[in-house]
Amino acid sequence: MNFSRLSSVKTKADDLAKLTMDKHMRLAVTGLSGAGKTAFITSLVNQLLLGAENHQLPLWKLAREHRFLGAKRTQQPHLHVASFDYQGGMDALHSQPPSWPSPTHGVSEIRLKLRYTPQSMLWRKLNNTATLNLDIVDYPGEWLLDLPLLEQSYAQWCEHIESSLQDSRKTELASVWQAMVQDLDIHSIADENRMADIANTYTDYLHQCKQQLGMHHIQPGRFVLPGELAGAPVLAFFPLPAALANSPSKDKKQHKQSYLGLLEQRFEYYKEHVVKQFYQQHFIKFDRQTVLVDCLSPLNSGHDSFCDMQLAVNQILHSFNYGKTSLLRRLFAPKIDKLLFAATKADHVSIDQHSNLVQLLSEVVAEGKRHVKFEGITTDTMALASIKATQSGKAQLNGESISAIKGILQSDVESQQQTTLFPGEVPSQLPQQDFWQQQGFEFSPFQAPITSPYQALPHHRIDQAIEFLLGDKFK
Ligand code: GDP
Repeated sequence: MNFSRLSSVKTKADDLAKLTMDKHMRLAVTGLSGAGKTAFITSLVNQLLLGAENHQLPLWKLAREHRFLGAKRTQQPHLHVASFDYQGGMDALHSQPPSWPSPTHGVSEIRLKLRYTPQSMLWRKLNNTATLNLDIVDYPGEWLLDLPLLEQSYAQWCEHIESSLQDSRKTELASVWQAMVQDLDIHSIADENRMADIANTYTDYLHQCKQQLGMHHIQPGRFVLPGELAGAPVLAFFPLPAALANSPSKDKKQHKQSYLGLLEQRFEYYKEHVVKQFYQQHFIKFDRQTVLVDCLSPLNSGHDSFCDMQLAVNQILHSFNYGKTSLLRRLFAPKIDKLLFAATKADHVSIDQHSNLVQLLSEVVAEGKRHVKFEGITTDTMALASIKATQSGKAQLNGESISAIKGILQSDVESQQQTTLFPGEVPSQLPQQDFWQQQGFEFSPFQAPITSPYQALPHHRIDQAIEFLLGDKFK
């Protein structure tokens, strides 16, 4: 064999090795709004770009073994999907005073190319390096709250909403759109403008439930986080009192053009083209998933907000019910094999409270896990701070040394004054009546930390999350 032939064989072997060693993974990140998705992805990308150099990732085996060679951003695969604004987030964090990255409101993605030295001797001989193309996809957890709609008719959905109005605080907020609905002759020919007005009032009601009552379990999810559907007629529907929704007109032709007929059609369209579409276009392509949960803010907001968050998180978990007879398996063929539950913003409590936070999160998701068959899915639960804004240490209180945290509160941005505080004990179980009576928890938002562009962002356990989510891909 002549020399040029030999070298071409070697090139082909190299290409083959590269081909086989180049792996691809789609990691999805979700959670209710405010859970910390944007901060998590910004920090994750930042750690992968800078963290290994800065020796900030000791819990990630690949970095610890010095086999991680580095990461760089490359063009995202889906050009029609919004890009995750990593640079915008970093600019906000490096502004003076620093601010938190602006949250995203729909699906966005970012691709990183991770280079590493493979573990296997054979591969190392063939080719020194290997690549993992990592797509990180961000989407609102609220969108997963719509999954049950797929099994409901419009009338059944109305019954469900009616039963949720038994909460007296909701009844009060609902009074305006309910009055508009009561006046409607549902069998008369629908007026599009009136429908849009009532739908807007219903959407206002949902926003108020979120903002005033701290509620998360909002349906339909797209009404509060419409993404690219803002203002589209598919969102111009609303629930009727169940008795009305269950009384179709006998005249089929008239029914089709009536308010009730149009509401039914829009509900079905929403299911088919919005809910199903999200699962088909995005969800079924995810390989791994992180569900972020902010347990601390609802602890502060009170009993109802906490229970509502728990309900919403467990509803989100239905999307990971891969049991053979599950709705999801029947309609789609999802392939997620690892699921991480992470309690975010752990820097809001002292380090000695982190294990309680993990236990609390385990209890929050316990019901969902019991009902959901995580067939073939490995799960883990942890507490993390994507971007650590406080320092944990000891403080003296009445002559006693107690664990405390120190940082700049969001309310002190002007003075830049540091505050030391003890936010209270995190309950290690679902809080009981006495906890709410004493209301022993104080959660105050902190300003983003002051950081250098040349250093990776400070964090708690992002490396542990990387190890769980990606660790096995670097063989
Ligand atoms: P998203 O709506 O799920 O994308 O939530 P964001 O990532 O925008 O987070 C909402 C807010 O939570 C931020 O503006 C911060 O105030 C706070 N936050 C998020 N992550 C952290 C964290 O790791 N530490 C602290 N102290 N606050 C955080």
